[in-house]
Amino acid sequence: MEIASVGVIGAGQMGNGIAQVCAVSGLAVTLVDVNEAALEKARATMAKNLDRQVAKGTIQAADKEAALGRIAAGTDMAALGGCDIVIEAATEREELKRKIFESLCPKLKPGAILATNTSSISITRLATATDRPGRFIGMHFFNPVPVMKLVEVIRGIATEEATVQAVEALAKRLGKTVATAEDYPGFIVNRILMPMINEAITTLQEGVGSVVSIDTAMKLGTNQPMGPLELADFIGLDTCLAIMRVLHEGLGDSKYRPSPLLVKYVDAGWLGRKTGKGFYDYSGETPKPAR
Ligand code: NAD
Repeated sequence: MEIASVGVIGAGQMGNGIAQVCAVSGLAVTLVDVNEAALEKARATMAKNLDRQVAKGTIQAADKEAALGRIAAGTDMAALGGCDIVIEAATEREELKRKIFESLCPKLKPGAILATNTSSISITRLATATDRPGRFIGMHFFNPVPVMKLVEVIRGIATEEATVQAVEALAKRLGKTVATAEDYPGFIVNRILMPMINEAITTLQEGVGSVVSIDTAMKLGTNQPMGPLELADFIGLDTCLAIMRVLHEGLGDSKYRPSPLLVKYVDAGWLGRKTGKGFYDYSGETPKPAR
């Protein structure tokens, strides 16, 4: 199945990035959010990101205008009725996503694919809120979407092979590389990344190393662009904790127990870059360890 038109639900940091890369690759995009202000902000963010690409010479000024011209944005879910695929990137709450699917499905074309960008909710379980479990799939983009090369494609228990193939072809068209995963908690990336971050926090808690020595050791010793604590601040410590809880509950193994120090930072409201403080304090010119 050839995909020519894409709907995106949720115009937050992920939704606007997904809409942007789809429009740049020539697809017609319909972006829907319940919040007008989020749509306004998404338009401004996409224009700014595309300006940066024009300045770098990766696209022409005319390509930017053409891409923006391919994006229709609004608050009415009925506008998604003509789309070949709808990618849901609304807030990470299972009840909310279920409600979206229940009201969206009757409006969709019969053959349309429905994908979710969820980072942690079971694809198999979300599929039960739709009328099309065979055409329901996980399409997990990474932040920032225009920069990050990976799309993790997650097969629910009922997902049909044709759906996997159509979504893989779409990801390729967006210039992304696909890694396919079966539907288990955390899929591939978060299943491996989050326990590493959690272990870095336990290492800090035990005093094995300071914030700086842990990040320096992992950056230079394992050739990672960011240390695990710096990366945790970038992702958001509340998000890291939520994902550890999904792994702990879903896999039932104590090795996924969230570090008590991570819980303490979240309780303090030190959530990382987005609140100005996490393992580092971002109030000055250069980030410094918060304690
Ligand atoms: P965000 O908070 O930036 O954006 C969510 C948007 O959804 C908001 O604009 C909100 O108004 C909108 N929304 C809420 N209810 C809606 C509804 N009923 N209909 C339409 N829109 C609605 O969140 P985000 O970081 O963009 O995350 C979105 C999804 O992507 C989540 O499922 C998250 O787990 C996933 N994800 C996030 C990241 C990340 O690094 N932030 C990475 C991969 C996947």
